[in-house]
Amino acid sequence: MEECIFCQIIKGEIPCMKIYEDEHTLSFLDIAKDVDGHLLVIPKKHVTNLLDADENTVHHLMDTVKKVANHCVSDCGYEGVNMLNANHQCAGQSVFHLHIHLIPRKTGDALPGFPKYSGAQHSLEEMHARLTMLKQ
Ligand code: AMP
Ligand code: ZN
Repeated sequence: MEECIFCQIIKGEIPCMKIYEDEHTLSFLDIAKDVDGHLLVIPKKHVTNLLDADENTVHHLMDTVKKVANHCVSDCGYEGVNMLNANHQCAGQSVFHLHIHLIPRKTGDALPGFPKYSGAQHSLEEMHARLTMLKQ
């Protein structure tokens, strides 16, 4: 079976440019070179994505996401970050080990803040009826 590339990074079998590491998580530079400072934060435990992750793994991951995001702003000259994440192939996930993308941001950097979607097809009422978790 082909091994997960992020598990190979965690084991040190593939190099990465580490930004932060602790017992449960790792952060390193994304190799895409699509935008300066593109970072990934991953749990050391292999879970496919948010949908199959246990609570503890998510808590550890989000603690580190906040730590790295604050570091970008407090220590590295940025003003904010975008946090991006794809869960499942249908959502654009291409590496099937849970990861959060962090993009450090500065006023006037001319990067998009949010994907430009093309427009909703259904009413808010229809979508509310489909998605609400509260009893009607
Ligand atoms: P996604 O498409 O959301 O699943 O993101 C996967 C990301 O992993 C992409 O942005 C890739 O550039 C990145 N990636 C793939 N292999 C590596 C690697 N060996 N080191 C760092 N980043 C990687
Ligand atoms: Zn993995």
